[in-house]
Amino acid sequence: MTYFDHNATSPLLPQARAAWLEAEDQFPGNPSSPHRLGARAEHVLDSARQRLAALLGCSALDMVWTSGATEACNAVLHHAAAMAESAANPVARVCVSAIEHPAVRESAEQFFPGRVDIVPVTRDGRVELSWLAEHLARERPVLVAMMAANNETGVLQPWREAQALCAARGVPFFCDATQWCGRLPVSGLGGCDFVAGSAHKFGGPRGVGFLKTSAPAGQAFAPLLVGGKQQDRRRAGTENVSGILAALAALEWCEAEIASGGAAARLAVRERFEGDVCAALPGLAINGGGANRGDASARLWNTVSVVMTPVEADCRVRWVVKLDKAGFAVSTGSACASGSEEPSPVLTAMGLAPGEAARALRFSSGWLTPETAWDELRGALVRVAGEITSGA
Ligand code: PLP
Repeated sequence: MTYFDHNATSPLLPQARAAWLEAEDQFPGNPSSPHRLGARAEHVLDSARQRLAALLGCSALDMVWTSGATEACNAVLHHAAAMAESAANPVARVCVSAIEHPAVRESAEQFFPGRVDIVPVTRDGRVELSWLAEHLARERPVLVAMMAANNETGVLQPWREAQALCAARGVPFFCDATQWCGRLPVSGLGGCDFVAGSAHKFGGPRGVGFLKTSAPAGQAFAPLLVGGKQQDRRRAGTENVSGILAALAALEWCEAEIASGGAAARLAVRERFEGDVCAALPGLAINGGGANRGDASARLWNTVSVVMTPVEADCRVRWVVKLDKAGFAVSTGSACASGSEEPSPVLTAMGLAPGEAARALRFSSGWLTPETAWDELRGALVRVAGEITSGA
């Protein structure tokens, strides 16, 4: 099976697997235990925190290990709501982009019911900064949330500019960097007040993630999970030591690949695929492609989101099944939306008609995807288009 669904989950990298096995042997203790095995596990967790903080550009004291990005996103919104409550501010509002993952969108609604302002996006799937600037000139939300790279389209978001706008107004800024980490340098993300990341999106194990929090001085972080003193009471629960070390091994490996030019080389391969597939299947449209094709700052090098040629109304599931039979694992969009009949909120926020969004497919590669796999995928798409058109 040729795997083109790395934005849903990316298989464990060999380096991560080796680090996990080694950690299981070397650090069997509970980091909270008072004996030497516990102290060793606690010590290695501290150094993992330092390694991650050094990559992000922040203090190791800001790092909290979580079970993944969903938990980290919930924890941030929960914290913001707790701060608003302790400031006796029942009308506090948050501002989130229209294309956030449900982990942000739904926790915003959960913790700030009816008090969520949505930042619109352009037809190319990029958050409208001017809207945010005007909003911040008038309002003072208790949190602004903007992802770094979109999971469905791969479109890179102006998170640095948004962070600067928020900093100038003294508004806390949260960046869900789940799809960015491991694909583009994480350096600089540490400047955001809150950052979420997830190991299984970059070749680490599932069920491990991180939250960067720099709750402003005088504010303790209000934990989502209580019932233990771990992580300075910011997240109760025994830390997944081996998973964390495996995640670090994966992230450091990805960062080295990026530094040696690996991302640029893979972007060129994806560009060629897009050009070839558009030529082979007239009418097919690339989401978020727009005027920015070929611009490395426009979209993740690994993601292609397309609206398939209008051969049928809601044919995306049929495409996925036929491509699966042909040996290719692809997606209809976000993993959570797969199989649901609802058109993607991300694509509709970009202005696609529900009928167009219902024909969307996403192909997302990984570091180890060979160049030839893209050519084979193009061939399979052409064959399946022929089958669907002929009613096979
Ligand atoms: N945020 C984004 C942008 C994502 O793409 C995902 C997963 O698809 C998540 C959050 C949730 O991540 P996790 O699976 O680690 O909970």
